[in-house]
Amino acid sequence: MHLKYILIFLILLMSNLLAKDKDKIILQLDWLNQFQFAGYYIAKEKGFYKDINLDVEIKEFNNKINLVNNVINNESTYSIGKSSLVIDKLNNKQIILLAAIYQQSPMNLISLKKSNISTIQDLKNKNVMLTPDAKDAVNINTMITSKNVKLKDINFKAHSFDLNDLITGKVDAMGCYLSNEPYILKNANIKFNVFNPSDYGFDFYGGILFTSNKELNTNPKRVKKFYQASIKGWNYAFANIEKTAQIIYQKYNTQNKTLDSLIYEGKILKKLAIKEKNQEIGLIDSKKIEEIKRLYLALGLSNHSNTKLDNFIFNHKKVILNTEESKFIKDNDFSLLTNTKNIPYSFNHNSNIKGIELDLLELISKKFDIDYNIIEKPKNIKIFNNIKTHTLDFYFNYSTKYINLEKTLYSKPILNIPMAMATTNNKNLIPNLSILKGEKLALLKGSDIYQKLKLNYPNLDLVFVQTKEEGFELLRTEEIFGFIDNILSLSHTIIKDDLRNIKISATLPYNLEIRLATNKENSVFIDIINKVIPLIKNEEKEEILRKYQLILFKNVSDYTWVYKYVVPLLFTILIVLLVNNKMRKEIRKRRKAEKALQDFASRDSLTSIFNRGKIDFLIKEEILKTKNQEDTFTIIFFDIDDFKLINDDFGHIKGDEVLIEISKIISKNIRNTDVLGRWGGEEFIILLPKTTSNKAFILADSLRQLVSQYDFGIKRKITISLGITQYSKKDTRVDLIHRADKAMYLVKETGKNAVKTL
Ligand code: GH3
Ligand code: MG
Ligand code: MG
Repeated sequence: MHLKYILIFLILLMSNLLAKDKDKIILQLDWLNQFQFAGYYIAKEKGFYKDINLDVEIKEFNNKINLVNNVINNESTYSIGKSSLVIDKLNNKQIILLAAIYQQSPMNLISLKKSNISTIQDLKNKNVMLTPDAKDAVNINTMITSKNVKLKDINFKAHSFDLNDLITGKVDAMGCYLSNEPYILKNANIKFNVFNPSDYGFDFYGGILFTSNKELNTNPKRVKKFYQASIKGWNYAFANIEKTAQIIYQKYNTQNKTLDSLIYEGKILKKLAIKEKNQEIGLIDSKKIEEIKRLYLALGLSNHSNTKLDNFIFNHKKVILNTEESKFIKDNDFSLLTNTKNIPYSFNHNSNIKGIELDLLELISKKFDIDYNIIEKPKNIKIFNNIKTHTLDFYFNYSTKYINLEKTLYSKPILNIPMAMATTNNKNLIPNLSILKGEKLALLKGSDIYQKLKLNYPNLDLVFVQTKEEGFELLRTEEIFGFIDNILSLSHTIIKDDLRNIKISATLPYNLEIRLATNKENSVFIDIINKVIPLIKNEEKEEILRKYQLILFKNVSDYTWVYKYVVPLLFTILIVLLVNNKMRKEIRKRRKAEKALQDFASRDSLTSIFNRGKIDFLIKEEILKTKNQEDTFTIIFFDIDDFKLINDDFGHIKGDEVLIEISKIISKNIRNTDVLGRWGGEEFIILLPKTTSNKAFILADSLRQLVSQYDFGIKRKITISLGITQYSKKDTRVDLIHRADKAMYLVKETGKNAVKTL
């Protein structure tokens, strides 16, 4: 009896010990429960987290939470944030981005149609509700400033999160989520305008999943698994919007939303999450992160321009090695043995070894951390592995069939290159080799498609050549009908040697397969490589091939014959052009936005004329332009007389108004080619290209009179003192400004309200 209980107790104890405790982790949201976080609820409710032994608690946002600090201090394990995480990273916060669910931030600005706000400019002096944290609303801020509207000209209000404030006219516009408020307005039949930052060229990510560097370093597998399970959740959520909305409605509806509004939210968000067909959910592009960084720097939201954003994005494509594999990588020295006569796969270029091989290896090594040497082994590569000294040699194997030699192990194919046939131009394109009857075709010695060709096309007369050069020579002298090799190698020679009478007229149903090879003892190495190969994306391979095709085409001056004769390549070239065009458009859009922002950065915030930095830059430019020419130019430096008294007697606000008025008077009365800038305080500079000081004097004196006769709405005349100087060779920017300033100063000393040239 007693024994039985002990036994049961022991069994219970054992099973308890054996059942591995689930990892408890916290996912901190950056807002209240709604469809915005659907993927995570699904991963939890559908057991995707449970399957990987994770117990995930999903926490709603509240105002007291600092998302970034919470993750760093381990109060939450994972968190959701906005593009402003880039600023945190620039400020050296130890965080890493895992996924960006929304490729475009759902945050927008809306106004009611009846309020007559239809452009960004209309927002001036209007009440706008935004989230308290300026960083959070940075996409809105950039959109506004890019339209030359100053943030200080807008009456920002703290966000009440009450749409009624917009409807009743308490505010004129508000920040909102494209997926929420518009739904309510639509239902209430209220017409509204949406200002979407992405329409203005500011595409920020939204719904960014992130964690701490510490979590990644201590639990790399957990990070990867959590990422995968979450993305799985997201895939389900967007593929089953209604079912997902049901689950949120029943279990996560802390905001008491209607089921219909959750479905609407889901549909809108899906469009923001999947911007292109087949785009994987959560994609983060390092180039886009760099663009965001540039915008933040331009806006002055961070001054850490040198901070590198390397390792800021989690590479989920990285293979996570098991203990044996990690040890193997750590314990061995790896060397790539490469035959540098194999253009374009491996060759010497400016005393560096380059080629498709090297790029492929670089790609592979990015997927797991391995260091390797590159050793040039011209011919008959032999592997010199030495188990004792822990040196492992490997090489790329090129073969059209899998040959399993006694001592060698091969990886799965990494790249396939079609085999092709080159002929002289006078031959027709050959859709199938079987139409050839008894023609003589040459192959490189040892080529392993010989047997296949022999079998499938018994009519062909096949001969071997020792080298590629020999093959082309026989073609040229028309001793053979065609020469067979892989397409890249053929096209390379045709273009490099400018063989205009040779073309590629057939592709064969065989591929040259490129694999990694090493000797039998190193099966762990091949295992790892085989794990990596499926993770290499087609785009990554295409990029490498593209690169070498472009190199191939670079030296050709007349492209027409290339297009005409290198027929099979034409298709790839077209694809390259298409892809590039799309990218170019994207870039143009961004550049435009950035230019708008730069314009903004070169304006004085009070008067909107150019600021000191810009005018300084323009003078520098003018000197460069004029330096080696007969031309000259002149600058006018002017200062308001007794401005201090205006401030003292009428107040600073009036003083500001006077500065603005004077800027306007001057701007209106100079020529289109002249530029006005505020040098500082109540000092201004006018730059007059292609103008002598004599001419400038006439203009300056007329400006002086205009100002002195102008009614500023105060019972006092306002006057200015102007100094003029003309550029002469050898003048530096500093010389010029100094001289003009001195001329102005002489006017001050002799009674003000006058013009003087120096
Ligand atoms: P002077 O005829 O010799 O130039 O006399 P001044 O009083 O104009 O010269 P001073 O350089 O002593 O004073 C310039 C004043 O301009 C001092 C400062 O308070 C005022 N000021 C500079 N920038 C601004 C501004 O942006 N707004 C306003 N309202 N005042 C400014
Ligand atoms: Mg003054
Ligand atoms: Mg002054």
